[in-house]
Amino acid sequence: DNDKKTILVTGCAGFIGSNFVPYFIDKYEEYNIVNLDLLTYAGNLENLQECENNPRYKFIKGDICNRELVEFIFNEYDIQGVIHFAAESHVDNSIKNPGVFVETNVNGTFTLLDVAQKHWMEKPFEYKKDYEGCRFHHISTDEVYGTLNETDLFTEETPYAPNSPYSASKASSDMIVRSYQETYGMNTVITNCSNNYGPKQHDEKLIPTIIRKALAGEDIPIYGDGKNIRDWLYVLDHCKGIDLVYHTGKEGNVYNIGGRNERTNLQIVDAITTILDRKVPAHENIDRGSYKELISFVEDRAGHDRRYAIDATKLEDELGWKADENFDSGIIKTVEWYLEKYQK
Ligand code: NAD
Repeated sequence: DNDKKTILVTGCAGFIGSNFVPYFIDKYEEYNIVNLDLLTYAGNLENLQECENNPRYKFIKGDICNRELVEFIFNEYDIQGVIHFAAESHVDNSIKNPGVFVETNVNGTFTLLDVAQKHWMEKPFEYKKDYEGCRFHHISTDEVYGTLNETDLFTEETPYAPNSPYSASKASSDMIVRSYQETYGMNTVITNCSNNYGPKQHDEKLIPTIIRKALAGEDIPIYGDGKNIRDWLYVLDHCKGIDLVYHTGKEGNVYNIGGRNERTNLQIVDAITTILDRKVPAHENIDRGSYKELISFVEDRAGHDRRYAIDATKLEDELGWKADENFDSGIIKTVEWYLEKYQK
């Protein structure tokens, strides 16, 4: 359809992308979306069932590192913007198997950027103007900043100090994006977001693990003393922030996204088990007084950052972003979604 702009969105069979695409495609009738996803263990097309029959949505199974395929997609669909989610995303896996993190997160991002830059470079100025400047939006994490003391917050000026192979690979990809802006004048934006929670997250991550183990009456594993702090944001609030930055963010800028919702891992377990105790009484389900009895401390993760917390002032003041969900409302929705999934 020639009246529409086609955007390449990578990695949408994963957690955040599969929350983003239904939101974005419903909101903007003028876009076609091509989703390029390799369907690694982390990708699941069931997460995108609601888009399957939408004529403005197209799924392509493939690797962002495959240059020929990425070039084919740019030419075939005349891609006019990129929102890049695809990545290896689980810190524990990056400790066991760092190579694939460098391959996908660094080389994959480079391949997409380089193909986009060459494709768009050849287009006349009018084309870029008509299509809002051929923007490349790179999705990244606050983990690139390393660990925090008890009081500071990460701002867009905080120096990079990544500590895990995951965060180091994301930091590297951010730097390559930056260089394409500075060197080739490409239109890029980067968002660095805090921990997301919500529907469609892979079973391996903290919140699904807590719910899954609790319902099964198994130990709920907590790293170290459980006092590591993360800043939690409901996934749809992240998606809305991405939408805002993609459309109104200043070229070449970085925006932090975070909900000012700091919680220790123990507080997370406590909140979830409190909700579960109310909804699926532990004495009926697993013959215990409370799911809290299952909490079990395990050896800390190597290189475990103590605290992350985002200062989102720039996004709030310049672009008017605000999270719609607070933690209490978001976590109830989230637990309800996994209850439905795990009790099937
Ligand atoms: P996810 O692991 O749930 O999904 C990643 C998706 O990328 C999967 O569908 C997978 O199949 C796909 N993929 C992996 N390698 C690929 C490759 N080589 N080619 C094509 N597709 C590939 O991840 P997520 O939690 O949805 O995270 C999405 C992005 O957001 C990542 O870039 C991540 O670094 C970033 N991020 C995540 C969080 C969070 O809390 N989850 C926070 C901040 C930033």
